[in-house]
Order: sequence, then structure tokens, then C-alpha cells
Amino acid sequence: MTRMNNAIPWAEPTLWGREEEYVVDALRSTWISGGPYVDRLERDFSRFAKTPQTLAVANGTAALHLAYLGMGIGEGDEVIVPGFAFMAAANMALMVGATPIFADVDPDSWNMTVDTVAPLVTERTRAIVPVHTYGNVCALEPLLQLGRDRNIFVIEDAAESIGSTYRGRMSGTLARLGVYSFHATKTITTGEGGAVVTSDDALAERMRLYRSHGVARTRYLHEVAGHNFRLTNLQAAIGCAQLEQIDRIVAKRAEVYEAYRTCLQSMPGLTMQTVEMDVSPVMWAVGVRLDAAKYPQGRDAVMDGLSVLGIETRPGFYSASAMPHLYGPQSLPVSEALASSILVLPSSPTLDAPRIHRICDALASLAH
Ligand SMILES: *Cc1c(COP(=O)(O)O)cnc(C)c1O
Repeated sequence: MTRMNNAIPWAEPTLWGREEEYVVDALRSTWISGGPYVDRLERDFSRFAKTPQTLAVANGTAALHLAYLGMGIGEGDEVIVPGFAFMAAANMALMVGATPIFADVDPDSWNMTVDTVAPLVTERTRAIVPVHTYGNVCALEPLLQLGRDRNIFVIEDAAESIGSTYRGRMSGTLARLGVYSFHATKTITTGEGGAVVTSDDALAERMRLYRSHGVARTRYLHEVAGHNFRLTNLQAAIGCAQLEQIDRIVAKRAEVYEAYRTCLQSMPGLTMQTVEMDVSPVMWAVGVRLDAAKYPQGRDAVMDGLSVLGIETRPGFYSASAMPHLYGPQSLPVSEALASSILVLPSSPTLDAPRIHRICDALASLAH
């Protein structure tokens, strides 16, 4: 790929620690599928998230799939997911034969809320999946209360919010179950990878079964028709080194977010995602919503303009309503408005203040 010398990439992994050493160690040990780094990653992640059970898996999408399988969600069941978010939770609902039901999101927090979710609950609703988009944790307690009142599972999709907390607890650990992604762009990475956390031992046991062919106690005896969702020892080795660095990564992300807030908040025509009082976010991605009065050329033209200036950005997610071939016809006015007006800026913790200022100046130069 060719890039301007001083181009600013949208994301950059932070392999700042002993990643190489641990991978070589795993390789030389010849334990390249399962192995001790997988066990260590699960222990280390549980300690970091302050959660009793972590299951390492092949990726964040597999983590969601495993959650649904472990909870017995399938045909005839409904799973409520946000209309504006990365669609893995919706797609895995379809994969297990369930129906994703789309809740619109809040125009300020860009997340689902109890107000958008509650009217969609039916006797078929088995799970609600709050997605903590861009690292911003949903207003969770009312959603958890709704789950308790109606006997519905809540599954936090914390793929984008590793390190973000809600009332002092790690996102992903407040509901019965939480999932994370360790993709290369995410806050910590194993290349491809993910995890499921839960405090429910029986659920963890069922998910261990589905993670590995449905075989647990007796070799080749399949108790359920399981998958292979395992993470490799080589990947887990990277994850262990990443977790050793997580405090530094989180601190750098906080600096980047603060630097952006300082320059963006005074710029007309740009609105950032609002964060609940209860949330201490680790922003995985810094999004801005463009006001059409200041940016009449539209979001896509602004992205092109930034690209010419050597700044790589991403658009907001498509609204679920833009994919009726998958999800059926939907009316999601807020998701649609966000989808066409959000621009996600380079958000890597490797960004320094001069580059953040260059990005803000570039955005200002494109305003009318
Ligand atoms: C990245 C992501 C996933 C999927 O994770 P993979 O590791 O890429 O499979 C799921 N949900 C959300 C919200 C994500 O951002």
C-alpha cells in the first residue's frame, strides 16, 4: 500500500511490550494450537476485568456466536440490537436462527437506551445486546433492570470498549455476559481474537463445550454439536504481552481523547458523542458528527478532503435499515441520520499532539 510519508493512519496496533519475545517462546515450545499462554491470557484478562471467568476465543464475532449458543438462543427467539453499530451481534443472531430486532439509538450518545429498547420487548425476546459503540458505554443500569424485570439476558458487546468503565466496573462485566474483540484495530490485540466473560459458572461450562466441538470429559464424545472457536497459543502469547501494557495503552488513549476534546469542542459544526456521568470511557474511536450547515459538501466529501491531506478516516456505520436484504425493512431515523453524518477520526494511541492539531486544522479548513 502506498501512503504519503506523513500520512496519518486511522489505527495502528500498539505492540509496545514483550509481544515478539512471547510469540517466539510459544513457537519454540511447539505448543502452537492450545497451550499455556491461552490459560494465562484467560487468568490475566479475568484479573484485569475483575471478572471470575474468561473464555478466550478466535475472534469477537465467535464470542457473540458462542454467547448465543451457550444461552440456548435460536429459532423463534428475538434478540434486540442497536440499529447503528457494528452488526456482528445482529449477524450472529441470524446465524443461530434467531431474529435481530433493531432498536434506534440516542442522537447524542449514539447508543441504544432503555427508551428505544423497552417498546420492542415481546414474549419472544431472549436477549438484549447493548453495543458500547466507539468505547462509549451505554446507559446500562436501566437496561440491566429491564432484563431483570422481564427475565431477558443482557449481553454486553464490549468489543470497542475494553478498559471503559461504568460506575467503576469494566464494561462487559456488568451484565450476565460480555464479549470483547482483540482484532488488530481494537484497544488490545492478538491479530484476530476475542473473549467472553461471565460470572455464571454453568454458562461458562456450556460455552466451553461449544467452543471446542462439544467435547469436554471424554475424547471424541460429543455432548453437543459444537464449533471450534479456540484461540491459538501463538495469538494468546501476543495477548499476554498486550495485557502487560494495557495501563499504558489506556493512558495514551485518554490523552488522545482529551487532546481531541480540547480542539474539537470549540469548532463550530462538529459534535462529539456524549458520555454518561456514570461512564469513564476509553475511546476506541473518536467520532464527530458533521453539521450540514458548516459542512454542506457532505460527510463523504469531507472524508475525501481529509484523505487528500493525508488523513485516513472512516465513515459511521450504515444503519441496519440500509441492509433490508439481511434485516428486512426498518424505520430507524436516528441511526440513519448518524450513519450519513458521522466521521471517525484517526484514534490510535500512537497519535501525538502535533498530529491531532493537524487533523483538527484540516477539518476546520474544510468547513464553510
Ligand atoms: C470488532 C467488533 C466485533 C467483532 O470482532 P471481531 O474480532 O472482528 O470478530 C463485534 N462487535 C463490535 C461492536 C465490534 O466493534
